[in-house]
Formats: sequence, C-alpha cells, structure tokens
Amino acid sequence: MKMLELKQLYQGFRDPKSILAWSEKIKQEAKDLKCKIRVMEVCGGHTHSIMKYGINQLIEEVFEFIHGPGCPVCIMPKNRINHAVLLAQEENVILATLGDMIRIPSSKGSLSDARSKGADVRFVYSPLDLLKIAKENPNKTVIYFAIGFETTTPMSAALLERVEREGIKNILFHINHVLVPPPMEAILQNQDVHIDAFIAPSHVSVIAGSKIYEPFVSKYRIPTVVAGFEPVDLLEGLWMIVQQVKHREARLENQYKRSVSFEGNLLAQEKIEHYFELRESFMWRGIGEIPYSALRLKEKFAQYDAERVYDLPYEVVKEPKGCICPQIISGVAKPLSCKLFGIVCKPTSPIGSCMVSSEGVCNAYFRYGNLL
Ligand code: SF4
Ligand code: SF4
Repeated sequence: MKMLELKQLYQGFRDPKSILAWSEKIKQEAKDLKCKIRVMEVCGGHTHSIMKYGINQLIEEVFEFIHGPGCPVCIMPKNRINHAVLLAQEENVILATLGDMIRIPSSKGSLSDARSKGADVRFVYSPLDLLKIAKENPNKTVIYFAIGFETTTPMSAALLERVEREGIKNILFHINHVLVPPPMEAILQNQDVHIDAFIAPSHVSVIAGSKIYEPFVSKYRIPTVVAGFEPVDLLEGLWMIVQQVKHREARLENQYKRSVSFEGNLLAQEKIEHYFELRESFMWRGIGEIPYSALRLKEKFAQYDAERVYDLPYEVVKEPKGCICPQIISGVAKPLSCKLFGIVCKPTSPIGSCMVSSEGVCNAYFRYGNLL
C-alpha cells in the first residue's frame, strides 16, 4: 500500500496557480473599494506565511497588513524574563522552557547567557519532557517557565495533571500563559492604530474555538475571519474580508473549518479551567498592562507555583536603545521604520524580541522581505 506523505496533505494549499487565481479574485472583488483595507494578522505564523509566499506583494493594492501581537515570545515583558533568569540562577534548579525564549535578552541578560555562566537551562519540545528531567534529577527542583497563548496552555495543564497523579515533588511552574482576545481589544482602543479587519489565529482557535472573538466583533463591529496558515487558506480568508467590507458587514467568519469549530476543544478547555484562573492584570510588551489577559495557577495548586514559592521582584524594564519592538507589537510601526533593522539587528545578532523569535515580525521581514 502506498504511504500518504505529509507533503501531500498541504501541497494543494500552496499550489502557485491557486494562489494566483485567489489573488486575482480578490483584486476583482475589491476594484470598487476606494481605499486599502487595513487588516491586522494577529498571529506571528500568519505574518510569516504572508511574507514567505509574497501575499503582501500579490494583493498590495487591496490590503495593508498591520502586524499584531501574536507571538508569545515577542510579547513577553522583560520583567518576566528576569524572573526566569533569577530562577535559573537559584541553587539546585533546572529551568526548562519552549521556543526561542532562551535567546531573548532582558536586563539580567538572557537565559542563554545564564546558561553560559553555569546555570542549568534546558530547551524542551514538550512540557512532558520535564517528567523525565525531574525523575533523573530527584535532588533538584525543575521549574517550567511556561509560555504561549491558548494553544500551549493545555500542555501545561497536562503536565500538572501528570505531576499530581504521579506524586512528583520536584516540578514547579512559572506561568506566563496569555490570551488572544484581550490584546486585540486593547489595540482597537488605541487611537494611534487604525484597523478595518482582523485575520484571527488558527492554532489558538483550534483550542479555544472561534467563539472567543464574538464579544468584540459585535462590540466594535469589526470583520474578523479565522483563517489557516497555508497561503490558499489565508487568501480565502482575505477574500471573505473583502466581501464583508464591500457589503458593510462586520461578522465573525471561520475559513478554517477543517480544524476550527465554534466551541473549540472542550476537553482542553476543561483541563485549563481546572488548573488556571485569570490574572487581574498582565504586562504586555509594547501594549502595557491589560486586565484579565493572562492566566495563573489557582490558589489550590499554590505548592506548584514558582511565583509563590520564590520571592520574585516586579520591575519595569526598558527596551534596548533604538529598538521599536513595543510599537511594532502594538501595530503602530513596522520593522522598516527601525533604524537598527538589518544593520545592527539581524537574526544572528538580534537586539529585540521581534528579531529573536522565529515567529517575530522583524525576523519575517529579514528572512522573506528581499529587502537587503
Ligand atoms: S502559537 Fe500558533 S496561533 Fe499562536 S502565535 Fe504561534 S503560530 Fe500563531
Ligand atoms: S529590527 Fe531589531 S531592534 Fe528594531 S524593532 Fe526589530 S527587533 Fe527591535
């Protein structure tokens, strides 16, 4: 029997003929519109697809893309990274985290700097990897610096469930899980940002359901379409936006029905609800404090909470001189307005988080922009 290859599953969604056909269809549909539609793609994964497949160039007369706060690494405030560095420097601690978090600079250096000075910092692909680390190091405390939007929160819940079930005593959590709708709403309230429509994230919506966008779609009357990452998905989502704008509608639509439902993954939501509660406020890099925009462990799981076990300071830390990541994340500026872009700030020598993170917008402009 012939094996189905992964490539066969997505190839059709990257077919150049379909991409061109969709972009023509969008241009035709938009030809009577008087101005460009300013659309924010909230998710860093979408930013990369838009740049990688040249979607911004194919339909530049129809859309202006405003890049949103959709990368969990980029929006992490420096005071939280300082916590990670301080925890990593504690005696008998192993600090583990996901993604590019290790390289993000902070006022106490990066986790990678801490590692080069002797701290035990580890990069894991899955939070469940911590179980093995903890069992192999019974005399150490293993701290999971948990990051991510609604997408990765269920994995932290799954780890905590295993820790409880197996009676593991040496794993703690520093929770930095954030939610997508609150920053979208904060951005809409910023007078300096003008947005006509949103392309809403796909992975987040698989877990949380498209229902999470409904309150502000009706409150702010803004077209919002959940779309997949593949270029054809994105183009179909953008076409749905053109339709809405043309007919002066503001609805929540779901282009990515093959993975996203209105309700989302109820089992994952149940697990999140069991372990986590809303924080009153969380500092977002670039946007500032946003009420009820992040999660923390519930009081009854306090013994697993590194923030309660260790005394960690709250500091406000400035961005590096010249770096405009805060303005980029909040939709006010774009990478090319940064004087450091491509000169002193590159993926190999990043100054700010938007260049470090593989989902960051400066990183996408550098990789796919053909600008240098
Ligand atoms: S986790 Fe997924 S949905 Fe969230 S920003 Fe990253 S790619 Fe986008
Ligand atoms: S190019 Fe570098 S320094 Fe400039 S905003 Fe982006 S990450 Fe910050």
